[in-house]
Amino acid sequence: MNNDAPLIETSIQEIADDIVYDHRHVLSIDVEEWFQVGAYEAVIHENEWADKESRVEYQVSLLLDILSAYNVKATFFTLGYVGARHPDIIKKIALSGHELACHGLDHKRLFNLSSDAFKRDTHKAKSILEDISGKSVIGYRAPSFSLSENVWWVYEDLAEMGFSYSSSIYPVEHDHYGMPAAPKRPFFPNAGLDILEIPMTTYKLMGKTLPVSGGGYFRLLPYFLGNRLFRKGANQQATPGVFYTHPWEYDPDQPTIKQAPFKSRFRHHVGQNSMVQKLHKLLRDYEWGTMEDVIYRPVTDQYGNKP
Ligand SMILES: [Zn+2]
Repeated sequence: MNNDAPLIETSIQEIADDIVYDHRHVLSIDVEEWFQVGAYEAVIHENEWADKESRVEYQVSLLLDILSAYNVKATFFTLGYVGARHPDIIKKIALSGHELACHGLDHKRLFNLSSDAFKRDTHKAKSILEDISGKSVIGYRAPSFSLSENVWWVYEDLAEMGFSYSSSIYPVEHDHYGMPAAPKRPFFPNAGLDILEIPMTTYKLMGKTLPVSGGGYFRLLPYFLGNRLFRKGANQQATPGVFYTHPWEYDPDQPTIKQAPFKSRFRHHVGQNSMVQKLHKLLRDYEWGTMEDVIYRPVTDQYGNKP
């Protein structure tokens, strides 16, 4: 293992563009509390979490009701922290037929963890989710898309822990995350490992690679534009789009952190009032499915689980 040098130049196995996908896109939901987001990490310390108002059960229930009205199944990348404190909502996600996947234990970014700490935390999170749901968890998403060339060793650990895919890379330039050099389509990150990486959707426009997968940009932009960019990105990659969102984005009544810098507060709160309406439109405008069904299965059906 080497935490300093990028290991990608010889290990990325790109997948050809001849996979037969159906017409669905992937709907993914990162389940975390409103106070655990990257935008607040400088002002809300982990030891203050216990004093903060939990809103995640209300928020996830709201999303589950909306999804069920359209009979849409999604992938819920969930923190072990949330699972340990709110097992009922985890059961509800699994019993509703959604895919339960892992978002780590407590939202620590990967570059802050050693391999041992990463394995200990992630294994704990996976076990919590599997024990509650009674189902095996095969998908992983790094907190804040913090997987990049500097922590490539993570894939070895994920494979060892029994994960089959990761959806942790945003191949863009961004102040908080991103790996611009990464492939834009699903790829095998390490020769010989049984693990597939499914990157977030991007759209190349006039030489710039735009993040079009959802999150803050989707809240900020009017629906017609966010929707159009997402669709164009998916078409450009000839791969189903990967949309991501969070339960806290649908809850304008959550507390505001006044001591947070303006930029952080803006990032967190912008557009929350219109997100329920935007989600209804998205669910009407496209067909959706889980990460496992829409991308992981078609790729491995054709290629096996290894390059
Ligand atoms: Zn997250």
